[in-house]
Amino acid sequence: MKITQWLLGLVPALDLAHGLQFPLGRAKSHKGGSEASLIQFLGPHRVEAGSVQNIRLGFSQRFAGKLHVVYGDCSINLAVEASQQVVSFLLPDSDHPDRLVWVVPSDAQDSQCLQAFHGCTIVGRSPPIAIEKAPHNPRAESQIDGDSVIWFDGVEYMRSQDSSKAVVNSVAAKDSSIAIVGAGIAGLMTSHLLSSIGIHNWHIHEASQRLGGRIRTAYLNGTSPDDYQYFDMGPMRLATKIRYTGTGEVLPFEDHRLVFSLIDTLNHLNADHHPELAMTFLPFDKITDDYGGMNSHTLQDLGEDEQQKYTEYLAHKMYRAHKQALSAGSPHWSEGAYLRQLLNPRDPMINYIADREDTPIWESLYWNKYFAASAWQSLDKGFESLPRAFAPHVADKITLGRRISGLSYNESADKVSLLWRNDPNDWDPAAEQYDYAVVAAPFSMLRAWNLPEYSELLDKAIHDLHFTQSCKVALHYRTRFWERGDKAQYRGCARVSDYPSVGDVCYPPYQVNSSGPAVVMASFTTGNMARTIAALGETNAVALAQRGMVHAHGKVANEEFTGIYEHVCWEHDEFQGGAWASPLGDQQEKFLPAIYRTEAKTIFMGEHTAYTHAWLSSAVDSAFRGTVQLLLDLGLVEEAREIVETWKARWIVL
Ligand SMILES: Cc1cc2nc3c(=O)[nH]c(=O)nc-3n(C[C@H](O)[C@H](O)[C@H](O)COP(=O)(O)OP(=O)(O)OC[C@H]3O[C@@H](n4cnc5c(N)ncnc54)[C@H](O)[C@@H]3O)c2cc1C
Repeated sequence: MKITQWLLGLVPALDLAHGLQFPLGRAKSHKGGSEASLIQFLGPHRVEAGSVQNIRLGFSQRFAGKLHVVYGDCSINLAVEASQQVVSFLLPDSDHPDRLVWVVPSDAQDSQCLQAFHGCTIVGRSPPIAIEKAPHNPRAESQIDGDSVIWFDGVEYMRSQDSSKAVVNSVAAKDSSIAIVGAGIAGLMTSHLLSSIGIHNWHIHEASQRLGGRIRTAYLNGTSPDDYQYFDMGPMRLATKIRYTGTGEVLPFEDHRLVFSLIDTLNHLNADHHPELAMTFLPFDKITDDYGGMNSHTLQDLGEDEQQKYTEYLAHKMYRAHKQALSAGSPHWSEGAYLRQLLNPRDPMINYIADREDTPIWESLYWNKYFAASAWQSLDKGFESLPRAFAPHVADKITLGRRISGLSYNESADKVSLLWRNDPNDWDPAAEQYDYAVVAAPFSMLRAWNLPEYSELLDKAIHDLHFTQSCKVALHYRTRFWERGDKAQYRGCARVSDYPSVGDVCYPPYQVNSSGPAVVMASFTTGNMARTIAALGETNAVALAQRGMVHAHGKVANEEFTGIYEHVCWEHDEFQGGAWASPLGDQQEKFLPAIYRTEAKTIFMGEHTAYTHAWLSSAVDSAFRGTVQLLLDLGLVEEAREIVETWKARWIVL
């Protein structure tokens, strides 16, 4: 009976309803061999249970009609007998897909077959597929408690996608037009990742006249990077190690790793044609021996056991720590509120113990971890060396000075348009249509855009995510007087507790103990203090920073000051509107899942969209997540996996 049905299914057919245009081919026995039929499942034929896969497809002839793909016992004759209904799709006459996107069930049976049906007719069958149950497991780290709230879980993401994404013509998909908005590190990294997997139809739109965004090095007194008279007005250091004070054991920080990998990759890329763009590191310290003796964040208040656990945990397992903090409800409590609930609400100890900015407990843990770092690195000639190293690779694919003012979604074409005004007073915006927009500009700027109607949470994320303020004042001196005497090795930051309005003072990490001019970051403030400094205005802020230097070093600081300075308050910067995201209450917990869904053909990335917000690594992480999200939207799972595996982006599950 089965044999008869099988043979009947192979009789040449004409499907009027679906425009079948060919005589169906022969099929061989399924046992172990491939099927000589309309559609071939070319592999891979070994996959991991609970993963998402691209299975290569081949067609023996042109065909138009409805196809239904299932996974099940290799001897089934009807699609309904299969254990998994994979996808139904209408095959067009031309541009046949060359890949199937298969979300392999976690309980998929070993040695079953992918099979394609046209009506009751079987038109293709794969060889038996080997299902690996126990992955070698780079993903172990991600399987913390089966909850994907904060991880980018590509499998879950694909499960929730429209099934029309389940087949793809990879050549057409790779030619999709992609607008990248913002040439900060997230936008630049995205352009690199796309090019690395053969997607070249992207273009960057940047509002300012430069690359780098918040990566901004001030080269003072009209100098160039080689003159060593600079300071970083944005990022200036990367935490690399943390010392457990109990045993002295030194642990590496894991979550800046991708930034170091990126720097290596760019060095390699530029080695032949742009050796002058090579980046090297300089040590950057935390100075604790002076300035009223305040070391702002330490682990020393904890017992030894707790110190060890805390140090290891946060250095090695930031993502796990974050996840557990979320499930323990830490974003819902500030330290003060928690202690008030636990103790007597009027207990004066609360004021003493608790972080009085009333940020969520997770925020305090998060910042304590980084600032307990025992070793830091800076980039020689300033962090602007990093966007400079991207320049040759984006030069002919970027428009500078284009301030995007909105997005619009064309539902019938399923495309998104960027809107901008060449003159701010133009009534009608100019527009350009793309298959996808990758928006890597901060939400602190997007709030003023005209945007399509998004889901409620995404809309709230864009409009309500909290950003903080930070100001920096860099002062130019004729000599390096701060290195005199026993301070010869001064490089890095100190918190000035007895002159609190200047925040941190940071000494240049370059050319330590040399003669000649150099620049000091004489005031680095954040949060409320930075808001006050911003309100004072430039003249007062610079004078205050200079008084701080005199307070610390004596009148030599006055004698050596050239009067040249650089001042920035990031909340007032016309391209930023904030220094970095500083989520309040449960904002991160609620907003991130909404941000990690593509709406109106738009993907959001940038420091503010990562759970390790506020660092270069956060922006770089977000570029990985956003690019993988885009590739999954395009059905390009192989390329998404290539990126994750090449860069060991361990927090993305595919
Ligand atoms: C004061 C300060 C100190 C910091 N210190 C450190 C540190 O020591 N170490 C560290 O790792 N990180 C540090 N950071 C954080 C780090 O700088 C950021 O996390 C990271 O640079 C953000 O990159 P991004 O690509 O997400 O965003 P951005 O760099 O902000 O890039 C966004 C880009 O979008 C552009 N844009 C904005 N609006 C539009 C528009 N309408 N149209 C087109 N383009 C637009 C902007 O001009 C910008 O180029 C610091 C940040 C600040 C502000």
